[in-house]
Amino acid sequence: MAAFSVRHRDTCRICGSRNLVEVLDLTDQPPSNSFIAPEAVAAEQRFPLKMHLCRDCGLSQLLDIVSAEDIFDDYAYLSSTSRALCTHYQGLVDAAIERFKLPDGAVVGDIGCNDGIMLARYPAGRFSLVGIEPSSAGAYARKAGFTVVEDFFGRDLAPRLVERFGRVKLVTSTNVFAHVDDIESFAAGVQAWLAEDGVWIIEFPYLVDMVERCYFDTIYHEHLCYLALTPLAHLFAKVSLRAFRVEKTEVGASGPALRLFVCRADAPHAEDSSIPALLRAEADWGIKDPARYHDFAKRVEAVKESLLATLADLKAKGHQVAAFCAPAKGNTLLNYLGVGPDDIVAVSENNDLKIGKLTPGSHIPVISDQALLDAKIPYALLLAWNYADFFVANSDYVKQGGRFIVPLPEPVVRP
Ligand SMILES: [Zn+2]
Repeated sequence: MAAFSVRHRDTCRICGSRNLVEVLDLTDQPPSNSFIAPEAVAAEQRFPLKMHLCRDCGLSQLLDIVSAEDIFDDYAYLSSTSRALCTHYQGLVDAAIERFKLPDGAVVGDIGCNDGIMLARYPAGRFSLVGIEPSSAGAYARKAGFTVVEDFFGRDLAPRLVERFGRVKLVTSTNVFAHVDDIESFAAGVQAWLAEDGVWIIEFPYLVDMVERCYFDTIYHEHLCYLALTPLAHLFAKVSLRAFRVEKTEVGASGPALRLFVCRADAPHAEDSSIPALLRAEADWGIKDPARYHDFAKRVEAVKESLLATLADLKAKGHQVAAFCAPAKGNTLLNYLGVGPDDIVAVSENNDLKIGKLTPGSHIPVISDQALLDAKIPYALLLAWNYADFFVANSDYVKQGGRFIVPLPEPVVRP
């Protein structure tokens, strides 16, 4: 495993302000996707995981940046292993083709295409599909037959994409924008790649939902920004883009999300009333008010105490507890709780790249879904809580009599 490097910034990554206030400290943690081999535990590194608010533009962000090249080097997250996510993206693609009457042969991009999960949702052969992916996951998309540019997206890459593929009519970036330190370069790159009437669809976990519902486990090192429309409107204006429509969606890769439609400032797309409505709602909510976030930090602490009490109670009754699914955010939760293999005996996962390793920081063995069934452990902490309904209805674990502890927004045992 590569050694990670960290650097600290002291200005807001959207507006450059130093008017920043620390609002949440989730303790020092390893990068959340760095599942670790048992023999590598001694060399494991931890870095501060603290959220800061920019009081000028309203961006919530991490200021400690763990080297992205290192994180992506050993990237163990494959999107298509999530069936629920495939269904979600199919809805996004079908709606976009219909709404924007995408012509046959149009250039369509997906930035952060991962293993091709989004590209695979388009009807075969109808569009000219281009994926951009800096991590090793891109090899899976290429193997599936997609054109993949293996690079970090930004201002410098855009002219090369224009030259090689032409301007893009529709480009998506789902759960990737928040991973980028230089988001101004990223947004400027999209501006330069977009056709005159082109549309950029961004989907990201919504800060206001995260705070209101206490979904703090979506905070991890790979995730540098916690986005809302107010700071993004500031960013778009800087690079001659504008948001013209926004939708709320319930099942994104990390739970409740915003789906934002963005175009060039001079594009013909009329601004929908959803944009001014959401900007007003965010101002009324207090998007730039530190008190909002200090209250959030108190509720995060309360969730921790409640979950630890639930785990202690089950242990006292002689029940073993496992965890179900090993998404990145699950590691934020496990590490913030401070639990280890004495509290949670194993984590089940259907991703072969993680099985056999230990969870970062908490060092809980990752086993296959089948191994969890064979072990007949009666309770499992559901780390992918955003798919709770899906797993309660469909998982073999529940059919076999297992019960989930759904950790957020407050611990509940289901079914
Ligand atoms: Zn700012």
